[in-house]
Amino acid sequence: IVSRKNQPDSTVIKVKDTLVGGKASIMVAGPCSVESYQQTREVGAALKEAGVPILRGGAFKPRTSPYDFQGLGVEGLQILKRVGDEFGLATISEIVDPRHLEEAIQYIDIIQIGARNMHNFELLKAAGETRTPVLLKRGLAATMEEFLHAAEYIVSRGNTQVMLIERGIRTYEKWTRNTLDISAVPILKKESHLPVLVDVTHSTGRKDILAPCAKAALAAGADGIMVEVHPNPAVALSDAQQQLNIPEFHNFLSEVKESGLFK
Ligand code: PEP
Ligand code: MN
Repeated sequence: IVSRKNQPDSTVIKVKDTLVGGKASIMVAGPCSVESYQQTREVGAALKEAGVPILRGGAFKPRTSPYDFQGLGVEGLQILKRVGDEFGLATISEIVDPRHLEEAIQYIDIIQIGARNMHNFELLKAAGETRTPVLLKRGLAATMEEFLHAAEYIVSRGNTQVMLIERGIRTYEKWTRNTLDISAVPILKKESHLPVLVDVTHSTGRKDILAPCAKAALAAGADGIMVEVHPNPAVALSDAQQQLNIPEFHNFLSEVKESGLFK
């Protein structure tokens, strides 16, 4: 179903008033984790000011260590909804457990399935039973075939509103957090009709190269970019090193827009 051979026209997904996969490029931004109403609101206000339509924020955090901040859970989703409603932003948050889906979709506009759960077939099937758009992240070491089959798990259950996002893969390279696989973008665009985004933050883990990587992604045909933004990254409860502060976010957006690649 996800193959371009099956559907030559690109899928365009409507989220609130925003189209993903249409003519206009899309920016998704927000904190790694929802930490408080105030923190999320500051980012929401910055997005509104910048004309960025989709606010991201993790409420169920898949952390490497069980002793690290695990997210606010449903309370985090409620904060996201409150801020989204306040500024007219669509919201996106990762769901890690099929049992949380039904409640979660009352609060969020897009279900994120994270890299660690791309192979969680029961979660994929459950997301496929909903009619809420899904942002599916590429697994940490997933091939293109595995990635597209994961998407197929969702759409084959009737939920055709799936967006794919490249977020870097594991390689031997240590100077970036993951290796951004730019070639994934034209391959996915060629093989599938689904929208393709690139998460420049988790793929690189480096604030200093976000803009060139975003430009490269757009030049390669990406429909949109995801980036992490926090009012005070130094005290962030997750991914403190890699999140942009608000002035840095505005600079990042200007640089990407000035390139003319962000349509
Ligand atoms: C995230 O986007 O919050 C996240 C945890 O990313 P990933 O699943 O790509 O590691
Ligand atoms: Mn993060």
